[in-house]
Amino acid sequence: MRNAIPYGRQNIEQDDIDAVVKTLTADFLTQGPKVKEFEDKFAAYNGAKYAVAVNNATSGLHLAVLALGLKEGERVITTPITFVASANCVRYAGGEVWFADIDPDTYLLSLESTKKLIESKPKGFFKGIIPVDFAGLPVDLEAFKSLAQEHDLWIIEDACHAPGSYFKDSKGETQMCGNGAYADIGIFSFHPVKHIACGEGGMLTTNSEELFKKLSLLRTHGITKENMAEDHGGWFYEMQELGYNYRLTDIQSALGITQLAKNKVGVARRNVIAKKYKKAFIGKIKFQSLPEGNLNAHHLFVIEVEDRKGLYDFLRTQNIFAQIHYIPVHTMPYYKEIGYDTAHLTCAENYYSKCISLPMYPSLTDEEQDFVIEKVTSFING
Ligand SMILES: *Cc1c(COP(=O)(O)O)cnc(C)c1O
Repeated sequence: MRNAIPYGRQNIEQDDIDAVVKTLTADFLTQGPKVKEFEDKFAAYNGAKYAVAVNNATSGLHLAVLALGLKEGERVITTPITFVASANCVRYAGGEVWFADIDPDTYLLSLESTKKLIESKPKGFFKGIIPVDFAGLPVDLEAFKSLAQEHDLWIIEDACHAPGSYFKDSKGETQMCGNGAYADIGIFSFHPVKHIACGEGGMLTTNSEELFKKLSLLRTHGITKENMAEDHGGWFYEMQELGYNYRLTDIQSALGITQLAKNKVGVARRNVIAKKYKKAFIGKIKFQSLPEGNLNAHHLFVIEVEDRKGLYDFLRTQNIFAQIHYIPVHTMPYYKEIGYDTAHLTCAENYYSKCISLPMYPSLTDEEQDFVIEKVTSFING
């Protein structure tokens, strides 16, 4: 029997191991120089001014809504086709989550659906939008930004799937995901199924010095030695806000640094894999579309098939562990119960009935991919 083929897998090599081991005997296991080095390198990688490392992206999303000032009862729009954390962060702050529908071809939050939802309510009804670069495909944030400006909304870009992705703006300029050009804050995850594996971990990015300072303060208990009202001596600090301990360790940061250095090659390999899937499926099986000029970092490779459960079960008998991304968030019991509105999200629900994510990770071999393609194709052909 061949080895199991999962839908995603981390890629840890000797240099990653060496970096972690070296940090274990260094002076700092946490709050040391590796964290800052990782932040600086990450910010430089995607062209953002500031980066703040956190213990996971869920914490990062929580800090993002707090830094943007979300208060109890305030409303935020996100996509139903995402991991629950994109929505949950709003609930942590006591806010309401509203869902707009997805585009049936890109699977991303639909600009038209978002616009319609916003315009169906009085001015000031919503505070922000959290679009998600789903599967690694960048949201057109330039378009979302003009909508957001018109209605005085902030934007958090959930770029957990998309380190290294970019889109071309209306001037033809390349905009890296999470570069802060159009969104107020970007967020990335370093969970092992994502591109950069730290075990757990996340990174916030922003171009705003004010947001950077707020995020940094909230990440570490709201404690600071800056801008203090009093100063009793070298030991003195102030807790200026109610913050959290959402810090990333130096051990994880050391791993993040070596992982980040491989991301470009990893994304290129993922795109080679995507190209091969597309070549095999074109005209037969629907897959996520790629708008002109965009790079999809391909956290996932999603196809749509009529008998999704049949294919999922069949692939498991072949030791291929495809996965479903995602069960629409608005259909989760928790969100159904607190539903603020009866959500009519036809495209999201139709997508969910057919979607399945095929194996996609840099170390997937050509032979393994051929096997996956052969099994999918033979199932589709009956
Ligand atoms: C993985 C993921 C998260 C949460 O990341 P963690 O680091 O596991 O907290 C949030 N949003 C999206 C879209 C994700 O895929």
